[in-house]
Amino acid sequence: MVPSEGIKSQHQLYPKEEKPFVVNVLNVLKPAAGEKTLLNLDEVETILHELGHGLHTLFSKVKYASHTGTHTPRDFVEVPSTFMENFLYEREFLDMVGKHFVSGEKIPNDLIEKIVKARNNLAGTGLFRQVNYSLLDMYWHGTNGVNIQDIKKLEDEVFYRNAYDIENNNSLVSTNFSHIFEGGYAAGYYSYKWSDAIQANILNKFKEAGMFNQENAKRYRELLLSKGGSIDHLENLMLYLEKELDPDALLKLYNLK
Ligand SMILES: [Zn+2]
Repeated sequence: MVPSEGIKSQHQLYPKEEKPFVVNVLNVLKPAAGEKTLLNLDEVETILHELGHGLHTLFSKVKYASHTGTHTPRDFVEVPSTFMENFLYEREFLDMVGKHFVSGEKIPNDLIEKIVKARNNLAGTGLFRQVNYSLLDMYWHGTNGVNIQDIKKLEDEVFYRNAYDIENNNSLVSTNFSHIFEGGYAAGYYSYKWSDAIQANILNKFKEAGMFNQENAKRYRELLLSKGGSIDHLENLMLYLEKELDPDALLKLYNLK
């Protein structure tokens, strides 16, 4: 898969306002000769995710190009993208884009119910893992590595272990987890889950208004998407939500609370 890539950034500086230009590129398996290219659920989710980054860039309305679209603090950059993934689990959206490639039939209700249920499969394990990875990332960047002699011991101290981990605890994460030291995530791996926690609040707001309510979508666009990195995003987030962030929103989304 290839991400959303901004070719030209929006700005409002001399000599004239520049409009944004962004492309989303997706690599998928080439179909057999004469067959159609069909997308699986994961691929559609990726398209929605990257569309979220794309919309963040396209809806930008800021003065400086350095503030445009996804040029936000790390805390917010994955919010519009992970939020868009929610549409994959909405009947109305699936009715628009999902149909049988031969008969044209819409996706049956019972299949949609299965898709929605499968979303939370192993959600707790995944959440546990990402919190542990975030803690480890923070630990490495907040300590003097020279003094660390035993990585296994360190990980045992940093990680929250569940019963499964304690039974199967033979592998090291630090030595193969590239996000700790490269790719711009140093001490920022937490932002994946944090963005997810924020987007769960935005999702609740959309659900209250109706997922396709245009007035609400317009407020989301104006207060958050169009502002890029030119604002304090937490302040605008609360303006949009009209309340404080709910820390339980993510757990409820995953059906863990
Ligand atoms: Zn992303």
